[in-house]
Amino acid sequence: MARGDLYETLELKKGASLAEVKKAYKRLARKLHPDLNPGDKASEERFKAINEAYAILGNAEKKKQYDAYGTTGAEPPSSSGVNFTGFDFDAAQAPGGGFEDLLGAFMNAAQSPAEKRPRQGQDLIYPITISLEEAFAGKRARIAIAHTVACEQCRGEGHLDASRKTPCPQCGGSGRVGISHGAFSFARPCPACGGSGRDPGRPCPSCGGTGSRETTDTVEVNIPAGVDTGSRVRLKGKGQSGVRGGPPGDLYIETHLLPHGVFRREGPNLKVRVPITFPEAVLGGRVDVPTLSGGARLKIPPGTSSGQVFRLKGRGMPSLRGGQPGDLLVETTITAPAVVDEKGKELLREFARLNPEDPRGYNAGD
Ligand SMILES: [Zn+2]
Ligand SMILES: [Zn+2]
Repeated sequence: MARGDLYETLELKKGASLAEVKKAYKRLARKLHPDLNPGDKASEERFKAINEAYAILGNAEKKKQYDAYGTTGAEPPSSSGVNFTGFDFDAAQAPGGGFEDLLGAFMNAAQSPAEKRPRQGQDLIYPITISLEEAFAGKRARIAIAHTVACEQCRGEGHLDASRKTPCPQCGGSGRVGISHGAFSFARPCPACGGSGRDPGRPCPSCGGTGSRETTDTVEVNIPAGVDTGSRVRLKGKGQSGVRGGPPGDLYIETHLLPHGVFRREGPNLKVRVPITFPEAVLGGRVDVPTLSGGARLKIPPGTSSGQVFRLKGRGMPSLRGGQPGDLLVETTITAPAVVDEKGKELLREFARLNPEDPRGYNAGD
């Protein structure tokens, strides 16, 4: 039961505006909160009183009635139904943990109606391994995926006979129930109807109220040419089923490339090591080079060493976005000639005499 003048309780002049009421309540609630004044009976009484006053003066309709008649007809219950609607808590300024706890409870209560609204299903990521050849050419894959789909019997709602007209039996249609928090309590959205106030109906016996069931589907997916490890192909609506009739999530096929025996992928480019003979290295020549799209020939200039890299433009991986393809980077590696005949050995000794050189610069001056 509210005692005395409600404006006085909030330390206001009679007929103060709604904004002034809110401001005053906010200031006093911070000062008098029981968590900030442990064991202080007077503060606790004052805190109850300002809550009771605010339950009336903080509500435009009730305030109007109180201003006109000095009463609202029905007195507010001593510790329930405190209406926080429109109350602007400033978390950054809230002193101490107690008030933030209260703020948390208030925020949770305020947020729970969102939980009851239709929500899109979760996205799923499905990894697959593919060869470099498949990544180069693209691939059509058939994949079995386990996911949830909306229950047919309740169309994903989780409830049968959901009536939008009859009131919720738990809250009587108000959409709010009282919960207590420490010294006082306030209203939170009804868990049965999610605050809508409407009858949620019976839980669906087919899905047990979840609104979905597990299933395995075979999906066909086009893996485009040019994918790399971590590339994702989206299949709209093939993820988990929506919640309470919401749309399903998406399925992402994520490609992972297997290592290749000949080529190494570096972004859009392919790298390959090509052995060349000693005469090819010295005299130059044309050598066959493997690619993922048939063969290619590479011109080696005279005097090529091991570890030199030649670029075959456009012979790397195709571009996922239709741009220029990558390059093939060819690294030469000289294979020592297997000279077994005396004539060959003699020719090489002759060669060494005619072309004295020291490729190891660090021996100079010894
Ligand atoms: Zn169902
Ligand atoms: Zn309800």
